[in-house]
Amino acid sequence: MSDCIFCKIAQGEIKSYVVKESSNFIAVLDIHPHTPGHTLVIPKEHFVNLKELKLELAEEFIKIIQEVMVLLGKVFMTTDFTLGINEGPLAGQAVSHLHFHIMPRFKNDHGGSIHSIVYNPPQESLEEIYQKIKNES
Ligand code: 5GP
Ligand code: ZN
Repeated sequence: MSDCIFCKIAQGEIKSYVVKESSNFIAVLDIHPHTPGHTLVIPKEHFVNLKELKLELAEEFIKIIQEVMVLLGKVFMTTDFTLGINEGPLAGQAVSHLHFHIMPRFKNDHGGSIHSIVYNPPQESLEEIYQKIKNES
């Protein structure tokens, strides 16, 4: 897509710090890092979100994520990471081109877990929710 910043990064039209690259993905340092080494893994082809990603790219996607984790783990001497995708604007997705955040975590870094992102517990019981899901699947 012509006006997509991550397409431009993938095509080398916008300068970025490339941590790793594979045939179909590029891993770059986030421009506003939330942790030392905060990296984004971006498919070179424009997919808006994970739901759109071609399944044949899934293994390569996981592989480069693992490789970046190994690399950052060595550089920053950590084994722990927060990993994830803000899938859609309500979840905080600001750039409409799929990207996977890799954030190295450290002792006393004052961060939380995924549970700290949102607390919006359901009014319905787990049984009611489960039945809705079962009726749909
Ligand atoms: P989102 O909220 O969509 O999951 O995250 C978008 C991320 O892209 C943010 O963490 C933001 O700092 C990063 N970002 C936005 N523009 C650029 C850019 O031009 N270059 C790089 N390297 N990262 C960017
Ligand atoms: Zn794009």
